[in-house]
Amino acid sequence: MRKFDLLNFAREAAAGAPDMVRRRLLTAAAASLALPGALTSGKAWGASAGAGFRVLIVGGGVGGATAAKYLKMWAPDIEVTVIERNPSFVRHYGSSEHLTGAVTMQDLTVSYDGLRARGVKIVQAQAKGLDPVKRTVTAQGPDGALVQCGYDALIVSPGVELLYDGIEGYSEQIAETSIPSGWIAGAQTALLRRQLLAMPDGGTVVIVAPPNPYRCPPGPYERSALVTEWLLEHKPKSRVVILDPKNDFVTDETMILGWNHLYGYAPPQPYAEKLDKFMVEPSKDCRIEWRREKDGGKPLSVDPSTLTVRTPSGAVKADVLNIVPPMRAANIARDFGLTNASGFCPIDRRTFASSLVPDVYVLGDASIADAMPKSGYSANTQAKACARAILCRLQGLEPPEPAWSNTCYALAGDDWGLFVADTFRIVDGKIARTNTRARYQDLDASRVQRQVAAKYLRAWMRSITADSFG
Ligand SMILES: Cc1cc2nc3c(=O)[nH]c(=O)nc-3n(C[C@H](O)[C@H](O)[C@H](O)COP(=O)(O)OP(=O)(O)OC[C@H]3O[C@@H](n4cnc5c(N)ncnc54)[C@H](O)[C@@H]3O)c2cc1C
Repeated sequence: MRKFDLLNFAREAAAGAPDMVRRRLLTAAAASLALPGALTSGKAWGASAGAGFRVLIVGGGVGGATAAKYLKMWAPDIEVTVIERNPSFVRHYGSSEHLTGAVTMQDLTVSYDGLRARGVKIVQAQAKGLDPVKRTVTAQGPDGALVQCGYDALIVSPGVELLYDGIEGYSEQIAETSIPSGWIAGAQTALLRRQLLAMPDGGTVVIVAPPNPYRCPPGPYERSALVTEWLLEHKPKSRVVILDPKNDFVTDETMILGWNHLYGYAPPQPYAEKLDKFMVEPSKDCRIEWRREKDGGKPLSVDPSTLTVRTPSGAVKADVLNIVPPMRAANIARDFGLTNASGFCPIDRRTFASSLVPDVYVLGDASIADAMPKSGYSANTQAKACARAILCRLQGLEPPEPAWSNTCYALAGDDWGLFVADTFRIVDGKIARTNTRARYQDLDASRVQRQVAAKYLRAWMRSITADSFG
């Protein structure tokens, strides 16, 4: 790491920048000079570090909120503003538990008061446009008024856009009225719950899983399991059919083992052979079916008037239909010029700076983070590394080599938990998984270990929410 000369760094960075930006960089640098060695000592930065430096964040979900909190914690004098279209955050993680009534929509709702108390400014508005030369973002408030926010560094963490039209016959309007997705938690999640409650016993719930890449890899299978368990108790003649354009998923073995123990599921090959000595006798009356791509389960089109999904193996008629469509980075990432042909945002792995637009950083589900899954845990750990990189830049330091982690917990039933736990570093220019030991729960885990994993899941949800928004 080179010895830093902040004022010189700021002069270099300011060269060629518009006048206003140059002034802000130099002021910020001068203020930070009052604190020599603060960063290298690893202690909290003093009150004047970064004074006048403006970080603007678009998206107050997991990535955006975590970045805002940690920037303010590490450099209290930096101006941190979050532009978020909603008045509060409805957390996606844990939202399938609303379908079974285990949590209310209120339980899923997270206030921004914790961030406000830390001095983060929250602007409720929908970001619309970016001027990367003037370094401004234009946004529209709930009253229709346009606001313009300037920045020295911009973080964009807008999550995903659900491509409803990616399945023939489906649309956003249909999702909002009759065939909810609920993969962005909110009104559609509540609608799906109401539909399940209204469904007569003996009905079929069809859950359409998405193609890769998508947010929360175990999520569609966890949702299917929780709905199956709820139906067994409340509408025992009903069943769940998963239609899938894929043949496997992360945590598939441990999830399928849970389905086997809890619902009598008979795993298909190759799972049957791999899980054989850990399984119980399958039930002839199993109420969950997973139709993979190789079983003809790929959804081809949907007829909303009859709630029927066409697949290569025939038409599947639903009484309640839940579709998780293909997805890409949220539209605002594309409108800001941050996406490539994949629909997601290429980044410098070390800092999560956009590869396409200067002084913009992209976090979370919208970014191309290679081996890291699109999860809340990932967005949280990426945000901390990014916040550190921005503060290093402000101090004229090389950001330290980042390392990230992720644990995706999932439920196969209310008290049957499982997980995948990984660590990541940059290897040959890409983010790669570095843990070599077992990533998953042991197949021979005891019942108590499964129960403990379910408890860990709920504890994790509380702690990630507190860490990101508190
Ligand atoms: C059913 C389900 C279960 C899940 N379970 C888990 C789990 O157990 N563990 C886990 O780690 N992850 C889980 N996830 C995934 C996790 O919730 C996401 O990966 C995470 O929220 C991504 O964070 P983000 O910041 O990228 O996006 P988000 O958290 O979605 O935040 C994006 C924010 O940007 C805002 N926004 C978008 N566009 C604009 C705009 N133009 N202007 C202003 N604001 C805008 C949105 O309103 C939103 O608040 C789950 C997801 C689902 C759907």
